[in-house]
Amino acid sequence: MTDSPLPFRVGFGYDIHPFAEGRPLVLGGVTIPSPRGLAGHSDADVLTHALADAILGASGLPDIGHYFPNFDPTIKGIDSQKILVRAVTEAAERGYVIGNVDLTLIAESPKIAPHLTAIKERLGKSLGIAPGEIGLKATTNEKLGSLGRNEGIAAHAVVLLMRRA
Ligand code: MG
Repeated sequence: MTDSPLPFRVGFGYDIHPFAEGRPLVLGGVTIPSPRGLAGHSDADVLTHALADAILGASGLPDIGHYFPNFDPTIKGIDSQKILVRAVTEAAERGYVIGNVDLTLIAESPKIAPHLTAIKERLGKSLGIAPGEIGLKATTNEKLGSLGRNEGIAAHAVVLLMRRA
């Protein structure tokens, strides 16, 4: 995507992680009170992974597994905000800044609503945008399928990149 002529670029990201006992639950860089967290090589922040992949996708770049391989022992337990900042940096190096993002979390539990403001503030810092440019919704899967059986959490993300003036 070198020297893209486009003033705007759109990207989409998706991720899912299973629950695991004995781990903290980190969503959008915020630790949520929960009896269990998510399994993963990093901090397993499913929301931030979907968002980072959306930015990389909008930039025409490979997914986060390319930059942060899940077999690399040096990044075990990595704070996923570092992954997100890397995605923002990759987009910036190609002349793009973040416009707005829209995120959806899918989880039967725990309740995310009390934490939406804190998550928006945390992600805004990593993205370099105001919390008002971040849409964030949480929904259940209406008890359908693996998410409905409360086996994990999934996230969808859409991002708009704008060519820097
Ligand atoms: Mg992930």
